[in-house]
Amino acid sequence: MEEDRLPVKVYKWMESLRVDGWVKDVKHIITYANMDDSQDFENKCDLDVLQARLKVLNRDKWWLEAGTKTKLETFMEVFDRSDPKGLIKCNLQQNQRSVVARLKCRVLPLMVEVGRFKNTPREKRICPCCTKQAIETEVHFVTVCEGFEDERKAMYAELGSKVDSKNLKGEQLLRELLKNNVIKITAKHLEHMFEVRKGYVYL
Ligand SMILES: [Zn+2]
Repeated sequence: MEEDRLPVKVYKWMESLRVDGWVKDVKHIITYANMDDSQDFENKCDLDVLQARLKVLNRDKWWLEAGTKTKLETFMEVFDRSDPKGLIKCNLQQNQRSVVARLKCRVLPLMVEVGRFKNTPREKRICPCCTKQAIETEVHFVTVCEGFEDERKAMYAELGSKVDSKNLKGEQLLRELLKNNVIKITAKHLEHMFEVRKGYVYL
């Protein structure tokens, strides 16, 4: 930035006074982005590069912190990081999109989520659709629960070799089922499974 620019003059003036303020904030941001070489206004600080670095740093920080939050466990496990915007292009029907999004974000009203609102201890958030006495998690609902065996078989049959449903288990299987390349098939079956589930819950 040129010497006669007002921000440069103010920056240098405040720095000479050793006053805390936006000068300190700017330095902090630049140091945080590992661009210390550019913190002198006499050198050029590429704002596009700075913005890109801050985006990456904030994204990484978000992922790191999200991993420690129970509420985001499922999202962290199943989110397709290799193609983050791919789901938008999948053109799912509204209901299918809703089930998939709520499942990923753990707001589908399965017992694991309902129990959270009711302050039920996690070990008592038991699946109402089978006799396994298992906690009704997203993995249980989609990949394990005996209450949806027929629906699950139909889903795996349509997916064929696209998902290794015979060998994969748990989160790994759920992650594969929710990948963008098969989500159109999975979403259709998940929507149906969730409708069937309502029959168990509201009997
Ligand atoms: Zn079950």
